[in-house]
Amino acid sequence: MSLQTFRMYIDGAWCDAESGQTYDSLDPADGKPWAAFPDAGEADVDRAVTAADTAFHSSEWRSLTATARGKLLRKLGDLIAENTESLARLESKDNGKLIRETRGQVSYLPEFFYYTAGLADKIEGETLPLDKPDMMAYTIREPLGVVAAIIPWNSPLYLTAIKLAPALAAGNTIVLKPSEHASATLIELVRLAEQAGIPKGVINIVTGLGAGAGAALTRHPLVRKIAFTGGAETARHVVRSSADNFARLSLELGGKSPQIIFPDADLDSALNGVVAGIFAASGQSCVAGSRILVHASVYAEFVDRLVARATQIKIGHPGEDSSEMGPMATEQQLAVVERFVEKAKAAGAKLRLGGKRPASMHGQGWYYEPTIFECESIADELMQEEVFGPVAALIPFTDEDQALAMANDSQYGLAAGIWTRDIARAHRLARSVHSGIIWVNTYRAVSAMASIGGFKNSGYGRESGIDSVLEYTERKTVWINLSSEPMADPFVMR
Ligand code: NAP
Repeated sequence: MSLQTFRMYIDGAWCDAESGQTYDSLDPADGKPWAAFPDAGEADVDRAVTAADTAFHSSEWRSLTATARGKLLRKLGDLIAENTESLARLESKDNGKLIRETRGQVSYLPEFFYYTAGLADKIEGETLPLDKPDMMAYTIREPLGVVAAIIPWNSPLYLTAIKLAPALAAGNTIVLKPSEHASATLIELVRLAEQAGIPKGVINIVTGLGAGAGAALTRHPLVRKIAFTGGAETARHVVRSSADNFARLSLELGGKSPQIIFPDADLDSALNGVVAGIFAASGQSCVAGSRILVHASVYAEFVDRLVARATQIKIGHPGEDSSEMGPMATEQQLAVVERFVEKAKAAGAKLRLGGKRPASMHGQGWYYEPTIFECESIADELMQEEVFGPVAALIPFTDEDQALAMANDSQYGLAAGIWTRDIARAHRLARSVHSGIIWVNTYRAVSAMASIGGFKNSGYGRESGIDSVLEYTERKTVWINLSSEPMADPFVMR
């Protein structure tokens, strides 16, 4: 069967890599190649960044009012809404995510564009209350220039929307670099941006390998901001690249998020929250609630119920509406999960469910069973390291102080779930758990109005929410001398 071929978009034109090289993308549901993408090299990346820089300085883009930029983003939101089903199907094919999950994500995607479009003409400066009566000063917020957006494979459209919309709302231009494992939907998104009338050069996409196109993009001297989502090791490369161009950085990295379950919680609800946190998207979620801390008084009952519930999960083809868990997105990720599971077994963690590929999907792709371990110590590898797969690790706690200490005993701080009916306790923990997102009696909720981002090794910078646009601006201070006197002694600071 011939492969579907995709092209990149640079300076308003669809193109192949200068070298003519391509790479294949594999379908996670059967492991077979289904599409080919240009493998961009340094020269292609340079063309894309130069085009974005030229567009940034062009009068066509500079003279657009912020309100007009907002209208373009709204139009793009409308086009996404009109193409929800095809985008959702394509993303499901490309990264193996369930169609019910991608459909949900893509249906909500226009909201990020509408909300951010409304922020475009509300980027305001301030008048400063100076301590110098003969001076006034005010600030202007200006766009930065070329933004390099580096996107992982797990939720490409969503993770692009929360970068692209604020970058353009603030007046920047952008070069997108999707993961080599999931490039297709970002190309379709750029096609819709072209239809929306976004001027040429403002959005560019280079497809290619991380160490090739990704590295070339992040170290390019004309890049002014890098918006990165991915793993910590790659982030370290990106931070080093930014030492060359001093680009600003936002880093949305991984997590090992705790779900803390108190005995007064609605345990049915908590059970669903735990399933959502670790088995939805086959656990390939940055906010996966992979460390499940349960009060000792309900621990045994909760673990038994979780095992019974997870046993019922229907593993199946991601394109089927009835499937509840699809495959891992890549064969490498499947191997990572298998390694963690084998090490946990060898270290003595108690395997309660799964721990293997499902026999029912034999020979059909990169599927893995929902897996549940009970751990002895918060120091266990499964309690500390991000697996990025459907592997839940449970441990009991005896009181709130211990739960808090366990929750914060982590290099990460992306998200946390707190399950209790005690409102004071919920607020106490919301204050003291070191995470960028706290969900109380719910999990995996997102909104264009709410920021995401991490503490500690989960990264820095915030995306989504009202401040997201400001992250793509630079503040300039303008001083005005109000005095009619000539400027005095030039050797004294004013
Ligand atoms: P990854 O391997 O770090 O890749 C992320 C992106 O970086 C991909 O586009 C990758 O391209 C690119 N890349 C690789 N090497 C690079 C280099 N030297 N210079 C510049 N770019 C480079 O992460 P992943 O495995 O795709 O994603 C999983 C990780 O992302 C997990 O840790 C997860 O928790 C995190 N994540 C975080 C969030 C959040 O919002 N906090 C959301 C989703 C995922 P290639 O894929 O082509 O190599």
